[in-house]
Amino acid sequence: MADKLCPRCGTEGKKVNQKTVKSLVEKKVKDSDSYQICINSDCEVVYFNNPESIIYSTSDLQVKVWFKDLDDDSVPVCYCSNLTRAEIKEAVINGYTTPTEIRKYTGKTITGNCLIENPAGKCCHQAFVKEIARYSSKDNC
Ligand SMILES: [Zn+2]
Repeated sequence: MADKLCPRCGTEGKKVNQKTVKSLVEKKVKDSDSYQICINSDCEVVYFNNPESIIYSTSDLQVKVWFKDLDDDSVPVCYCSNLTRAEIKEAVINGYTTPTEIRKYTGKTITGNCLIENPAGKCCHQAFVKEIARYSSKDNC
């Protein structure tokens, strides 16, 4: 069980495919099935592997991580298309409120490479919907 906790912040990690880690970390990554991702936005650890005592931080990755840099508009939300937070914001302001509409509006329609392009190693859809909600609510302007 302790294997699942981020060594820096103690948040429970989520299992991540080693293909994702290998694709995004700039250093040589050791073969292992035990990589976890730390989803705590305040923690700089992205991947950890407790059995192997390995930690990769945001600075070890080739890309910015959407759930770590919440206030950086240049961060991609959809990595397959390099569709950024700023582009989503702009599309929402222009009245587009679903991922499909926003993809059409921005012309960024490439999907399907999440395993090797997205730091979470999974589809961006949920994150995409959350970002739209963030910019759709007028209360926190
Ligand atoms: Zn952490």
